[in-house]
Amino acid sequence: MDSDDIVLLRRRLRTANREGKPILVCAECATKLELRSNKLSRKRREKDYYFFKHYKDVNECSIKTNSRLPIGVLLARKYENVKESIPHINLKNHLGYIIEHFHSPEKISIDNKFYFDKSGNGEKRKPDVYALINGREYAFEIQLNTTFLSVIEEREAFYERNDVSIIWIFKYFPLEEEIQRLTQKDIYVPNRLNAFVLDDDMLDLSIKQKKLHLKVFYKTFSVDRGKICSQWKNKVTTIENLNYGDNYKPFFYDSFADKEKAKQELERIQEEDRIKQVRIQKIRRQEQERLAEQKRIKQQKILRCRTLIKAIQSELDLLNEKQLELIKDKENLKYKIETLQAQSQEISERLSDTVSITGKMYNYLKKYSGQPWTYMSNPLDKYCDISSIKNKFCERIKAIDNTKREIKIKLEKEILPRKTLIVEFSVRNIGGIEYSIIPPKKKYEGLVEKFPKEIKVIDTKDLGTIFESNCLKYA
Ligand SMILES: [Zn+2]
Repeated sequence: MDSDDIVLLRRRLRTANREGKPILVCAECATKLELRSNKLSRKRREKDYYFFKHYKDVNECSIKTNSRLPIGVLLARKYENVKESIPHINLKNHLGYIIEHFHSPEKISIDNKFYFDKSGNGEKRKPDVYALINGREYAFEIQLNTTFLSVIEEREAFYERNDVSIIWIFKYFPLEEEIQRLTQKDIYVPNRLNAFVLDDDMLDLSIKQKKLHLKVFYKTFSVDRGKICSQWKNKVTTIENLNYGDNYKPFFYDSFADKEKAKQELERIQEEDRIKQVRIQKIRRQEQERLAEQKRIKQQKILRCRTLIKAIQSELDLLNEKQLELIKDKENLKYKIETLQAQSQEISERLSDTVSITGKMYNYLKKYSGQPWTYMSNPLDKYCDISSIKNKFCERIKAIDNTKREIKIKLEKEILPRKTLIVEFSVRNIGGIEYSIIPPKKKYEGLVEKFPKEIKVIDTKDLGTIFESNCLKYA
């Protein structure tokens, strides 16, 4: 509820109370309440303080405070009213003059005639200026000072009942709502936030243009950053350009409709925002779910990787252990190889020495076999007694030499003549096998008996098969 709404509520309570159908009553005494403003605070340009108050004629309520304004304030107010009455009279006369001379009214009265209620109940009002222009009745009320809401409300209700358009005229209208009088608010707020001003400029313009010109102040509403903002605007208008509501009250710009439009706009924006927020929330939730899923998968992967790494690590450890063992084995083997190589070398050297010594010994023994041994120099370059060796080996050497001689004699006497004899045979080579016709002599038979493997005999009666087998063979 903004300050305009409070002024409207104040008006509604007042009307309802006047009509005897109060909307708000005191919880204690159940009598009607009115909405009042703290005037002192307004003078200090502070925010208006509104409060509910009992009517003056209620005495019996326990929570009623009988606050009376200080006598000085009342006197000052009275003095103010007297002081302001001359400008009031001047403005009324100027206004009447302009309407009378420039608007050709069917009827006009300038504060000199009562307007009686059409119902005939005897109620009457005397407007500052009354005029009938083009069939429409106008009551112009000049408002320069403060007036009770009750006066304003009752007057407006009276004219509304009588189909008269009431126009409240201000001489001056401040745009700062903190310094606007509550009376001004009580007038312009219920009038769709339209305030009409007839100042010196407008008077000059009206005389010049020969038509009543009023400056109208009105509020426009817009939505800015999620809030309804209002702005005062003003235009110069004539009474031909005014609009009229059901209550005959004239207005220039329908600020209520504007405010309503702004409210709807705000609601639309808020609804859009809400939908957007819902959408954003949904997207955010989906994104969160997606991220959570991603995280879950990632953690799973990490877990798998960790398990894998652990397995690889333990395998590596095992391999390392094996490698260490192998290195140890290798070292051992290397050592063994080296030992064996050294041993082999030693054996080779010993063998070589042994062979060399044996050779030398053999030659020596062979050369000096017939000589005394005791004081001989031997291949070991040492004087030593080798007679025992001599006795053992000299006989064997002699035997070997004898055997050689015997083999040589046998070769010359037996083997070579036999070979010659064999070569004498007429030999034919058929298919890699040599065939020969053996003469029937006793010495060949002995040969056949001696070499049963090399020579095979084929009888003449079997000659038919000579080419089918390799019976007679001499290699
Ligand atoms: Zn009460």
